[in-house]
Amino acid sequence: MKKKVLFVASECTPFVKTGGLADVVGSLPQELNRTEQADVRVILPYYGEIPQVWREQMELITSIQVPIGWRNQEATIHKLSHQDVIYYFVGNDYYFSRRGVYGYYDDGERFIFFSRAVIEAISVLDFEPDILHAHDWQAGLAVAFAKIFEPVDNMKTIFTIHNIKYQGIVPIDAYDDLFNMSHEHIGGMEWNGLINCMKSGIFHADKITTVSPTYAEEIKMPYYGEGLHQILVDRQEDLTGVINGIDVQEYNPMRDPHLISNYKYSRVKKKENKAALQEKFGLPVDPEKPMYVLITRLVEQKGLHLLEAIIDEFLLEDVQCLILGTGDQEFEHYFHHAAERNPDKLAFYRGFDEGLARQMYAGADFFIMPSKFEPCGLSQLIALQYKTVPIVRETGGLKDTVTAYNEVSGTGNGFSFSNYNAHDLLAVLRYSLHIYYQPEQWNKLLKNVNKSHFSWKDSALEYADLYESMVESVYKINTSYANREA
Ligand code: ADP
Repeated sequence: MKKKVLFVASECTPFVKTGGLADVVGSLPQELNRTEQADVRVILPYYGEIPQVWREQMELITSIQVPIGWRNQEATIHKLSHQDVIYYFVGNDYYFSRRGVYGYYDDGERFIFFSRAVIEAISVLDFEPDILHAHDWQAGLAVAFAKIFEPVDNMKTIFTIHNIKYQGIVPIDAYDDLFNMSHEHIGGMEWNGLINCMKSGIFHADKITTVSPTYAEEIKMPYYGEGLHQILVDRQEDLTGVINGIDVQEYNPMRDPHLISNYKYSRVKKKENKAALQEKFGLPVDPEKPMYVLITRLVEQKGLHLLEAIIDEFLLEDVQCLILGTGDQEFEHYFHHAAERNPDKLAFYRGFDEGLARQMYAGADFFIMPSKFEPCGLSQLIALQYKTVPIVRETGGLKDTVTAYNEVSGTGNGFSFSNYNAHDLLAVLRYSLHIYYQPEQWNKLLKNVNKSHFSWKDSALEYADLYESMVESVYKINTSYANREA
């Protein structure tokens, strides 16, 4: 029998997206529903940001009262079916009819409300979950409330960590103001004297997953654990890493409408895309020139301090480099000025532009991703899908998806370095150039790149097996108990 699973998340494509979480919550349920093992539905906040085209298709099911401290707040529950997945939305004008998605002073309260509303809503949905699968801090308290209020007998819980850096921290006073629960539960939600939504999810969930096997190991260490490493060590028996996939229909250089020239493997067509990019960015047009690109949020996590330290030195080589990104002013200023210093070699476009990003994935020879930490990373997977060679630091999902090219064995689909050190990055950038100019080696590397595939299929099967094992273990316990009584 299919296991009934309710995803709880704060964003999901195509309704609302600020980052990779939305891609995962948008693709994984569809893929899981194609298996024989799972029937997945998704519950999300009903943001003012959700485009009208989706709102029009929603059906209002009911409204419920959600206890928030001493008072009740109303939540409207809406339903929509899209591409074989049923979505529920929790509406409340006060909390969710605002511009944007996050970044408000009361984000903690907004997602306490959302998490509590999900648990209250379960009894009015036409769907009784076997498993509640919550994603990231915004849904962490849904796991805690599920354990405490038990809306469904024996319902199991999974908490998936997409990025442990963002934890949803709220002053401890919120416990009395917003939870209205006995103090016996405070220990499971508090960390360092504050309410911590991520810790609440980790503490209460039956199983914890994260988005790559290496990140699952890393977050047990102080360097990567953002203060929560010890609780993850305590729970390591229940912690696994399942690598994310990408939507290979969506990211497909054969059909991508943004490209000047569509291709499957053709380097000639790829070079047509490169020439178009060079023209667009005002760089000398020469399709033979090796091109390195970065497409990223401009934040420290992405290893940009390393690139800052060596970019002028690397640009002494006969290469071109393009950077697309927006984020911290420090980096925006730095790359703006670096491009001014190197007008024939480096161009920087400040902004978020999906079409341009795809043209860059297509036109580039190399994709640079020297992250300080990277739970999974989608960009290196998209680069591989567009037959562009990734150059990564060996951390998190980058380590699990990119293997360093080895000239002797001819194995590997990219380049990598281990230590968070700028000159190690420089050395690997120079090495990639060396391989680029050796046709025999370069062709071997490209063959390996062409064979790299990261669709959702395998990851979905891993999740489906996990669901199965969790629900089976409940049946087993119940049966053995029944036998004992008999
Ligand atoms: P993260 O979720 O930490 O930002 P990921 O590599 O998992 O990193 O996902 C980033 C996604 O956002 C990729 O699809 C990438 O192409 C896209 N992206 C990042 N910055 C930009 C930008 N400035 N313009 C367009 N797309 C971007």
